[in-house]
Amino acid sequence: MTSGVIAKKDMQKLKRILSQIDGKGYKAYKDLQGKSFSFPRFTMTFQYVQGDPFAPFSQVALSIPLSETGLPEEMITGKTRRTAMEDFLARSVHAALGKISGRRRGSGKSGLITIDAPGQEVLERSCVRIFPGRLEARLWVGLPARGRRIAGAEALKMLTTDLPGAAEKSLFFDALPEKAMKRHVHSVEDQNALRQALEEKGLVAFVANGALLPRRSGIDQRPLARNRAVLFESPPSLEIEIETPNAGTVRGMGIPQGVTLIVGGGFHGKSTLLAALEHCVFNHAPGDGRERVVTIDSAVKIRAEDGRRVEGVDISPFINNLPFDRDTTFFRTDDASGSTSQAANIMEALEAGAKLLLLDEDTSATNFMIRDARMQKLVAAENEPITPFVDRARELHEKHGVSTILVMGGSGDYFDVADHVILMDHYRPRDVTAKARKIARGVPTLRVSEHSPAPATVACRIPLPGSLDPGKGKKTVVKVRSKEHIQFGRTTIDIDRVEQIVDVSQVRAIGDILLFALRESIIDGKRPLGGILQEVEGRIEREGLDVISPFGRPSAGYARPRPQEISAAVNRLRTLAVGRESC
Ligand code: ADP
Ligand code: MG
Repeated sequence: MTSGVIAKKDMQKLKRILSQIDGKGYKAYKDLQGKSFSFPRFTMTFQYVQGDPFAPFSQVALSIPLSETGLPEEMITGKTRRTAMEDFLARSVHAALGKISGRRRGSGKSGLITIDAPGQEVLERSCVRIFPGRLEARLWVGLPARGRRIAGAEALKMLTTDLPGAAEKSLFFDALPEKAMKRHVHSVEDQNALRQALEEKGLVAFVANGALLPRRSGIDQRPLARNRAVLFESPPSLEIEIETPNAGTVRGMGIPQGVTLIVGGGFHGKSTLLAALEHCVFNHAPGDGRERVVTIDSAVKIRAEDGRRVEGVDISPFINNLPFDRDTTFFRTDDASGSTSQAANIMEALEAGAKLLLLDEDTSATNFMIRDARMQKLVAAENEPITPFVDRARELHEKHGVSTILVMGGSGDYFDVADHVILMDHYRPRDVTAKARKIARGVPTLRVSEHSPAPATVACRIPLPGSLDPGKGKKTVVKVRSKEHIQFGRTTIDIDRVEQIVDVSQVRAIGDILLFALRESIIDGKRPLGGILQEVEGRIEREGLDVISPFGRPSAGYARPRPQEISAAVNRLRTLAVGRESC
């Protein structure tokens, strides 16, 4: 499509159509659906056309031959660099849209142009894709109307002037800031290298010196202003070096496999450190402050989540002897307590392959975490259903290779089971392992370990396809309006306390992954949940995120979730039913 003549002709055709449908009922826009038009430097395709100015956005894709973009080959070679570049371009389109993105031109969403812009994280997304030989940017547009009548002249300006203008500024190498682009791609590549180095070094996490961990506020994930933050500085005893391909040697604190305790006074930065570790299973954009902080990618934040649904989970390693002899090897409830929800969260995380558990006293059930000597004397073990986490942490590591990082400022009982103790003191970490050991020897807890051998394997649950029903009346309804909920058929999946979901676009993807897994019979009543997650992972890895889109058209609004978060959504589905088999 390099011939200028053809290109011009096709663009003229779009202009003609728009003038023909000007003033007609909104539905006449539908004629554009599926059609492509050649512009001088790209092809514009109407992947979806809304039925109404108030309805969800239309989707327009710009497809550009890679040679035309001028993007340097080496910046887009390999999955890591490609994903980083796609993310960079999505940010760049978002910035180029700037003011025009919010300029309304008529009723409803008329005139709005947006792209699914990334936040602090760099995730695999579907709004900008680099395919062999071409780049595709997918935008959401509100096709203009006055009332419900097509505003043809407005549409013309939007589609043939504004949109191409923004593309010109954001998708072609000549117009892009080369230094920032390289920094972005190199930083993401380094983060993957840091994360990959963890396992061979026997670590579960790494925090580089100079990292800026605190966020602007509880509702704003951007970094705290530099002049108000204490930058991270590793204690000498935990300091290590990791080689990266672009930044060279990076120094910082390595957290070894095993049980690590983060202690310290209130407001000294414990939870902030843990939150950084939670989020650093994902990569971050340069400037975030956490772009040299990495955690192994299977790490799962564990918290109490009272009120959640639990289906067929073996929580017996933690909970036994419930009133009325309830079965805790196949525990189900519509309304879990703090401790049973936390136990279920752990067992489900293990089922989804977690090798690191992250716990914070702020969001844990106290009775799940500790029971001290006095309480043990008052309430006999046979009347207390809970084996507290303190009695399982070592076994999880030694028998199952699952590490724990735990924030605990309130109880020294954990000194006995910790491999490392890090004290946060005015936002500065200190290694106090030796001191904690000495105290543990000098001041015995007097508590008796309530350790009874736990089952060696994690149970195997098989989701029954009939129990996942996306139907509502005659329609299939899977809708995502926020990061907190998925409407799935007649029920709502609450994922508001699944803290490692960082982007609403991940939630959109999760909703469609559930549909995909049903449609493709990946959830077939035979595969266990772990196998389902693996199969979905494999398909996305091989075929790209587009494979999960329903209706045969690509989505502009996915970001890739981890299997752990897909599993979290399945487990919170209130209608879920599972079969139990030995795997
Ligand atoms: P803790 O869990 O120890 O009680 P938090 O991690 O919640 O403490 O931190 C308390 C406050 O200090 C928060 O407002 C947080 O943003 C801020 N904070 C945390 N780490 C730093 C830091 N390195 N520099 C500046 N402020 C920080
Ligand atoms: Mg805290």
